[in-house]
Amino acid sequence: MVTDRCSRSKILWGGIIEEYRKFFPVTEKTPVITLQEGNTPLLKAVNLTKRLNIELDLFLKFDGANPTGSFKDRGMTLALSKAAEDNAKAVICASTGNTSAAASAYAARAGIKAIVVIPEGKIALGKLAQALMHGAHVLQLNGNFDEALNMVKEVVSNYPITLVNSINPYRIEGQKSAAFEICDQLGFAPRYHAMPVGNAGNITAYWKGYKEYKTEGIVSKTPVMLGFQAAGAAPLVNGKPIEKPETVATAIRIGNPASWKGAISARDESGGKIDAVTDEEILSAYKLIAANEGIFCEPASAASLAGVLKLYKQNYFEKGETVVCTLTGHGLKDPDNAIKVSGETIKVRAEFNEVKKVIERIL
Ligand SMILES: *Cc1c(COP(=O)(O)O)cnc(C)c1O
Repeated sequence: MVTDRCSRSKILWGGIIEEYRKFFPVTEKTPVITLQEGNTPLLKAVNLTKRLNIELDLFLKFDGANPTGSFKDRGMTLALSKAAEDNAKAVICASTGNTSAAASAYAARAGIKAIVVIPEGKIALGKLAQALMHGAHVLQLNGNFDEALNMVKEVVSNYPITLVNSINPYRIEGQKSAAFEICDQLGFAPRYHAMPVGNAGNITAYWKGYKEYKTEGIVSKTPVMLGFQAAGAAPLVNGKPIEKPETVATAIRIGNPASWKGAISARDESGGKIDAVTDEEILSAYKLIAANEGIFCEPASAASLAGVLKLYKQNYFEKGETVVCTLTGHGLKDPDNAIKVSGETIKVRAEFNEVKKVIERIL
């Protein structure tokens, strides 16, 4: 039999459950519901560090490159696989957007119904479009995220429906795979790991992942964990819940994080920090990453770099150390916001002369 030389029966990357199976609570009986998530780029921020004159080995883990455009896929592959194993008929979540996009996509893949409860106020249109296209039942609540979460908790205590918010332990399990990948990509654990913090599931998951790799003897050290909240939504920094959280970074607009304790443990066990960054700092980092590194992330994602830049100015880091920033979601989720923030106006019906002027200016 003749086969083309390019044909490989092997799947190049089977998704996080296949790749890191022994770290997850799955058996041969667990149906693997996957969109081949994970294996996202870890890019050295060569241009940013040069431009800002920063003496760090700075890396960007672009988790916006996951199938639905955010790290939520890592947790959802496991949550939906376990829901399918338990013969769940429906899953439900409260979400500011990315959780609902991922839950809807993985539920569609599993042939399970999804119900999505979104808080009132601004929701990025891309995320809403995803939930609708994947066939989820979408309901907008007259209340904020925390109230939406309380409502879905009440629903699952009364109906045989699986909750897939990050209080579902399988979400945290799946999300820890990003820490494994970073170690595998670098060849060691970074000295510092920086990330945005909203509901705090992800920082809890990364810390768990790093610790497991150390326990297994795959890495010799764990990183110092740095979490960054938006100044208008910084309950962990202020030490108490916030009733009306406000920030442009809607994915981290959360006043009472579900994984509060996990975030504090990650901070204290790793000798790290949870700090706040202003919306101005977040948007500035958002633009810097896109313009200098070719990575278009969400505003919330940029809180990680904003925080690193803030701490760098305070001489927090030892020079030359390895710092990884997680960029949690894709910028295309909210193009309206991006166009607004860019401050650019597009010249309509430009004449050749105007094109020439631009060319002369930039050459
Ligand atoms: C969910 C999300 C976050 C916050 O993660 P938590 O686990 O809630 O702390 C940050 N950025 C993006 C893009 C998200 O979707």
